Amino acid sequence: MNNFAVSRNDFNEWIVPVFAPANFIPVRGEGSRIWDQENKEYIDFAGGIAVNALGHAHPVAVNALTEQATKLWHVGNGYTNEPVLRLAKQLTENTFADKVFFCNSGAEANEAALKLARKVGLDSGVAGKSGIVAFNNAFHGRTLFTVSAGGPGQPKYSQDFAPLPNGINHVAFNDLEAAKAVINEQTCAVIVEPIQGEGGVIPADIEFLKGLRELCDQFGALLIFDEVQTGVGRTGALYAYMNYGVIPDVLTTAKALGGGFPVGAMLTTDRFAPHFSVGTHGTTYGGNPLASAVAGAVFEFINTPEVLNGVKERHDYYKKALNQLNEKYEIFETIRGEGLLIGCALEDKFAGKAKDINNLAGEEGLLSLIAGPNVVRFTPSLIIPFADIDEGLKRFERALARFVEIQKDEQAA
Ligand SMILES: *Cc1c(COP(=O)(O)O)cnc(C)c1O
Repeated sequence: MNNFAVSRNDFNEWIVPVFAPANFIPVRGEGSRIWDQENKEYIDFAGGIAVNALGHAHPVAVNALTEQATKLWHVGNGYTNEPVLRLAKQLTENTFADKVFFCNSGAEANEAALKLARKVGLDSGVAGKSGIVAFNNAFHGRTLFTVSAGGPGQPKYSQDFAPLPNGINHVAFNDLEAAKAVINEQTCAVIVEPIQGEGGVIPADIEFLKGLRELCDQFGALLIFDEVQTGVGRTGALYAYMNYGVIPDVLTTAKALGGGFPVGAMLTTDRFAPHFSVGTHGTTYGGNPLASAVAGAVFEFINTPEVLNGVKERHDYYKKALNQLNEKYEIFETIRGEGLLIGCALEDKFAGKAKDINNLAGEEGLLSLIAGPNVVRFTPSLIIPFADIDEGLKRFERALARFVEIQKDEQAA
């Protein structure tokens, strides 16, 4: 049995060092609490980066997984399967979309979206209709195409891997005039996050998204909403586009979709789906029965007024409590975001110190996230119990108090 003892040091020994994980190792979770190897308990405000939408080991997900595990795991794309058909019906009946392409991650969903747009552009017959417009600070994944659509601003994400796919133009987020200046007949797609997640929890202005919709209509470009982070109830709507009333041509979803089981999807309409014909795109695992069964159960659970309204209630609860903490400690310039995608943006004088707060929170028994160097981010389970929010905020307050003390000491030194 491969259940021999391992420790955090082994990470440095055996794993390619693209991550710098915390110095404890989580070993089990239940709801919004997890425990490490030393049996120390943590409140989980990170939710596996907006993934564990039902927390840990939720019976709905566990039952779907174990039931499917005894039936059929994988058959390959020479066959379809019942769970994937059910999931496709759920996604299309509850969104603008008519057709779904399944894959395993957010990057793959965006890769499919950008490839589809290039193909639609080619099929249009307009010469050179391959241009993609994307936004500064965006994050779309780590394949070479999606990493090129993301940023710029994080050169280590893309420039180190040049030559990059070309034809991608970046302009400032929420700057409609800048977008207008670069969208034209040669544009095949505009890709945008309704709320920039990794870029600092920055919501798009409604006029910005409406304007992009109009420009895409005017020039025959696909409007792609990257809802990998904002999707599946995260903002209190099933998808964030529903809050804005702006309907994309393509939507990508992953993270929370499987509640922790890897799955992604690209949603589009009957107008554009046929441009991907047999053999033009594909995947080995995408739409596999195991992933689809779990995603179907998670999606059904989340897509109810109780759960979605619960997300909004929790947002208000967090926001009120965080603003109160901030009145006391004066660390954050603003608390922003929608639903349970919440960003606490640091005052300028604490620029670059989000990671320090995050580490202190970990020591106090709270899992939190950052979104860039200046924002502490929370993306907890959509059904986190209010008692766990209270306890987590108590721990967060202890971390903030220590942070303030450390800042004073540094200034005095
Ligand atoms: C996380 C994320 C991705 C990438 O998803 P992976 O599953 O890591 O490939 C893409 N877009 C957004 C908005 C994300 O938050």
